[in-house]
Amino acid sequence: MNEITVIGAGLSGSQAALAAADRGVRVKLFEMRGDKMTPAHQSAKASELVCSNSLGGMGETNAKGMLQAELKAAGVNVMQAALEHRLPAGNALAVEREGFAQSITNALERHPNIEFLRQELTQVPNGVVVIATGPLTSDALANDILTRFAHNERLAFYDAAAPVLEFEGIDLEIVYRAGRYGQEADYLNCPFSREEYTVFYAALEQARSHTPHDWEKLEFFEGCMPIEEIARRGVDTPRFGPLKPKGLPDPRTGREPHAVAQLRQEDREGRLWSIVGFQTGLKWGDQKEIVRLIPGLANAEIARYGVMHRNTYLNAPKLLNSSLQFKEHPNVLTAGVLAGTEGYLESAATGWLAGVNAARIAQGLTVVTPPTTTMLGGLVRFLATAESKNFQPMNTNWALIPDLERGDFPQEHAKKKKLGRKEKRPILFERGVLAFQDWLTIEGI
Ligand SMILES: Cc1cc2nc3c(=O)[nH]c(=O)nc-3n(C[C@H](O)[C@H](O)[C@H](O)COP(=O)(O)OP(=O)(O)OC[C@H]3O[C@@H](n4cnc5c(N)ncnc54)[C@H](O)[C@@H]3O)c2cc1C
Repeated sequence: MNEITVIGAGLSGSQAALAAADRGVRVKLFEMRGDKMTPAHQSAKASELVCSNSLGGMGETNAKGMLQAELKAAGVNVMQAALEHRLPAGNALAVEREGFAQSITNALERHPNIEFLRQELTQVPNGVVVIATGPLTSDALANDILTRFAHNERLAFYDAAAPVLEFEGIDLEIVYRAGRYGQEADYLNCPFSREEYTVFYAALEQARSHTPHDWEKLEFFEGCMPIEEIARRGVDTPRFGPLKPKGLPDPRTGREPHAVAQLRQEDREGRLWSIVGFQTGLKWGDQKEIVRLIPGLANAEIARYGVMHRNTYLNAPKLLNSSLQFKEHPNVLTAGVLAGTEGYLESAATGWLAGVNAARIAQGLTVVTPPTTTMLGGLVRFLATAESKNFQPMNTNWALIPDLERGDFPQEHAKKKKLGRKEKRPILFERGVLAFQDWLTIEGI
């Protein structure tokens, strides 16, 4: 059994096919575009970037930069193509999208171990399979995955997600813990004065809303109305909705603030917090500005931006292992958005790992997962162990990897109790990238 099937030639599937084929396994790669388009893609090229052309910030203080360094160390094709087609964009890894997609398409079409078929698959075939059909998986296949692999749990919906923040950047001098009307103090509360709210509201009103594609004209349910839509209904509407201050007196004044933004814990360790009721389709630059106008969040780092688009993804913690195999179907693997990641780079990274593991299964070898201190290791462990209730796709961020213990501080900081983000990140970066390189060598990958 030295053959595998990959379904989908987007960011994750292209990389899965190339990783497996480079390991001597024959790959049948099915891509429906060319025959049938998705509502967002414009071409039949593999690895087309459907929206922005950025693969994230680079360098050792950036979580995406760390994942990029790991992918570079592994010789991942998508990363190499991105560097070859890089455009000037400051510290961001922006790419010339046509050349980038063409070079991946060429690599797939010319690979002696890959048979690239332009065809929609409506069922998951037998054998070793990587399902990499992304957020716009065709309906027939989504239905097959749903019934045979996902316990009939709902798979596709309009993803209305609120921004998720890293705990570290939240100012606890301003933000206070409390539950509404004296309930369990599970929430972090950001109190607005009247003046702060006026400034915040004006910015929200002005923010350019992410222009939806025609296919994305959404019927908003009241429960997942984007914050910018709520704000359009009037200056006080958010204060009577998600920013309601009732029952949340600020312990320092004893009075209810003019408005309150509540943060809810997203992970078991409490390192990620989402803004309650703050789902948004605002452009990412605008989102950042607006979030930072919330009292106590001036220095907050956004781990995952809010989005509004159709999304198809699995409840990864219920269904998957950190090797990206289905727990109940170990010959079937998945990657990309379908596996519960968000982002081009994350899709390529999980595609690579799924391709490596699919090849290993076909060759009778054991599957592998990168160490916990690596960004890819942290991401796939999150997928396998996150809270399954209300699970949302995740992109790369620092809270996915273990923090530095005091004993890990370098000599020059040995006397400090705590390190700031600027001091800490290059150390986490080096620790993770070295661990990743060692892992590649030890496992012979
Ligand atoms: C509208 C939109 C905008 C986005 N913008 C960004 C952004 O700006 N930045 C960012 O980092 N991420 C963005 N994302 C999220 C995500 O990073 C991308 O969607 C990324 O392309 C996901 O990679 P993937 O491999 O999971 O899916 P895709 O790249 O979409 O690849 C899946 C492939 O499977 C094919 N396929 C589907 N069904 C079948 C079938 N039955 N048989 C055969 N082939 C099939 C599709 O044609 C497609 O080529 C966006 C997502 C959406 C939907």
